[in-house]
Amino acid sequence: MAVNKSELPSSEDEWRVRLSPEEFRVLREAGTERPWTGEYVETKIPGVYHCRACGAELFASDTKFDSHCGWPSFDKALPGAIRYIEDRSHGMVRTEVRCATCDSHLGHRFDGEGYTPTDARYCINSVSMRLEPATDAG
Ligand SMILES: [Zn+2]
Repeated sequence: MAVNKSELPSSEDEWRVRLSPEEFRVLREAGTERPWTGEYVETKIPGVYHCRACGAELFASDTKFDSHCGWPSFDKALPGAIRYIEDRSHGMVRTEVRCATCDSHLGHRFDGEGYTPTDARYCINSVSMRLEPATDAG
């Protein structure tokens, strides 16, 4: 699905109208949902995860893996889907992950943990995404 950037909200007030309070807090204010509460933590359904704010494709379900950290985890993002920002909050240096299309906060990326061959873990809030299940499973 192509996203028409000209139709995206241009102010935080417009985002606030489009999103639920919890979605707004995470996506637009870089919040974090409580661990193990997100709807996609344990999901194994094949499909593509889209940005809940703008609808852009972010992650394929075959890159999702069990990290047991309490949030959905992926070891790879779709090409060009993500914007990276150095985050020095909370006394740590982390890589913040944002949607490249609408600049909404998704989660963080951690490297060098050795979970999978890509050696990366995208730790993403469920509330930042919407799963579009694959239709041609057969
Ligand atoms: Zn987006």
